[in-house]
Parts: sequence; structure tokens; C-alpha cells
Amino acid sequence: MVEVFPGIFQVTEGASRGVMRPPVNIFIITGPEGLVFDGGYGTRKDVQYFTEKFREVQKECLARGVPFNVTRIMPSHAHPDHFSGLVSLRKKLGLSIILTKSMHDILASREAYRSSYNVEGHIPSKIRNPVVERVSKATLGRIWSFFYEKAYGTDFIPDPDRIIDNQGYIDINGRPWRIIHSPGHSEDHISLYNPGTGVLFAGDNILRSVTTWLGPPKSDLEAYIASLKYIRDLPGLSLILGAHGSPIVNPRERIGEILQWRDERTRQVLDLIRTCGASGVTLREMLDRLYQKKSWFTYRIAEGWILVTLEYLEKQGLVTHRIAGRKVLFTGL
Ligand SMILES: [Zn+2]
Repeated sequence: MVEVFPGIFQVTEGASRGVMRPPVNIFIITGPEGLVFDGGYGTRKDVQYFTEKFREVQKECLARGVPFNVTRIMPSHAHPDHFSGLVSLRKKLGLSIILTKSMHDILASREAYRSSYNVEGHIPSKIRNPVVERVSKATLGRIWSFFYEKAYGTDFIPDPDRIIDNQGYIDINGRPWRIIHSPGHSEDHISLYNPGTGVLFAGDNILRSVTTWLGPPKSDLEAYIASLKYIRDLPGLSLILGAHGSPIVNPRERIGEILQWRDERTRQVLDLIRTCGASGVTLREMLDRLYQKKSWFTYRIAEGWILVTLEYLEKQGLVTHRIAGRKVLFTGL
């Protein structure tokens, strides 16, 4: 664990376990009324690892003669690398679980969770595509259900200890921290901001060295851009602690880079569609043009952001689609 800001410790779980289980950060805000931000993975090994680190931080505080009363845990959003450990950590460390209303709607049961991530019926009908439906249904149905729940040690949360609004304030160590609803990567995503110190917990929205995943059914590019701009303009913003990777000490510059990257990617898709003229282009052709050498994993990731970008471009009135037989063809306007 690393003290990333005075009194805030970062514990990174799941290091070097491959691309399907990225290392994820959990933050312990120490003090007289502290809080753990994000829940990490829920396998026995991960929970054991976090528990040991939690105890080490506790000892460190004791040695420094500063209070360590950390009794609450709260995730940034309802993705499995962020909530899977919550129930086990409650049991092991006596932490009470705080969820927003939107997170609880998703995490109340396995059925609620699966139906909320069921792409069928969630991909806007505008860009629904037989290929996407077939791929998404199969992967989300099988892999999310069996592989991810096992690999992540997922526990659902029918009985959180407190349910709060998506937006508002939470008291941590006698100071108000802002809960900022910041959708885009997922619709229930929140960020936690301390206006006094300028420290922001960004969850998956802003990462130091990797691009945030975007894909159906919960991502929205327009909302993502708006969330990033809102965060960029927070007065006093000085340090971003993201769920993956190391702290961001140049927050405005990093957000600027991400916005520029999204802008370039969006333009790439639009240019490609325009190049194809009136005959149109399918999603698969776009993938083949943008990614010459693609693994299954790259294809899945790319398909996600391209779909979200197409939806965004359609909303902007720059692209439209038509169905020709079994194909969905996109053309520029
Ligand atoms: Zn996520």
C-alpha cells in the first residue's frame, strides 16, 4: 500500500492477473470518521489481501498516534471490479456498505444485475445490428455470468446499510466531500471530491495511462464528455486518484488529453463513414479498417467504443443508418 495523500492510502488488488482482471485500486481514507472508497474483487485471496493491508494501515496510524476509525465502504460504480468485495469486506472488517440508489437498483440481486447489463433491448434500436446482438448476447450471457462472477468473486448486495442519492455530500472526518454523479462510462458512476484539499476520487472515469472503456449498454459518450468537462472545471482540483493506475498530479492536463483523444477517435469514425459515401459502411467493416491486427479482446473493446461513438454521432445528426438485408449500413449526413 502507498500513502498517496496525507492520510489516504491506496491498496492495489489483483496485480499481474492478466487482462481480464486488471489491477484495481481501493482507497482507505483514515481518520476519526474515515471511509473506504471502492470494493475491489471478492475472491478469498483478494479479500484476505485487502484485510491485511487494512490492518497495516491501522497499525501505521496507531504508531503515528493518529485516529483510525474506518467503518464505511462505498463503491464508485456497479462494475464487478469495484463492488465484488463489498459483502466480504463488510463481514471481515465490520464495514457498513453505502450505495447510491442507482447502484442498488443494479446490485440488489443477480437477476437485477444481469438484466441491467443485458445488451438486448439496451442498445438503442437505431444502431441495433444482428452481428452485435449475436456477439453481445453470447458473450455477456455466458462470460459475464459464469467466468466473471467466479473470477471476480462477485457477491450481490440485497441489503446495503445505507442508500444515498446520486448527488450530494458525505461527511468524512468532519469534512464535507461532494458526491458528483458523473455518468458516461456507466450511468450510475459517481466521483468523490473534497473541495478543501482538491482531491478527487475518479473511479474509472479518469485514468492516468489507459483509456476508459466505453461500450453498450451503459456507456454514453455525450455524458462522458460532459462529466469530464465538469470535473476539469472544479475549482481547486489538484489531485485525481483513479481506480486503475497511479495518481494524477496534473488533473486538468490529463483530462484535456482524454477529451482530445475521444475527439480524435470520433473524427476517425466520422471520416471513415464519409469516405465510404452513399454506399455506407457496416460496423464490422469499420472494425477491420481501424484495427488491422485484432485479437478477440481488442475486437470486443473496439466494438464497444465504436458503437457508443456511432450513437453519439447519430444524436448529433452527423450520421444515419439504414438496414439492407442483414446488414446495418452507416452513412454520413
Ligand atoms: Zn468500470
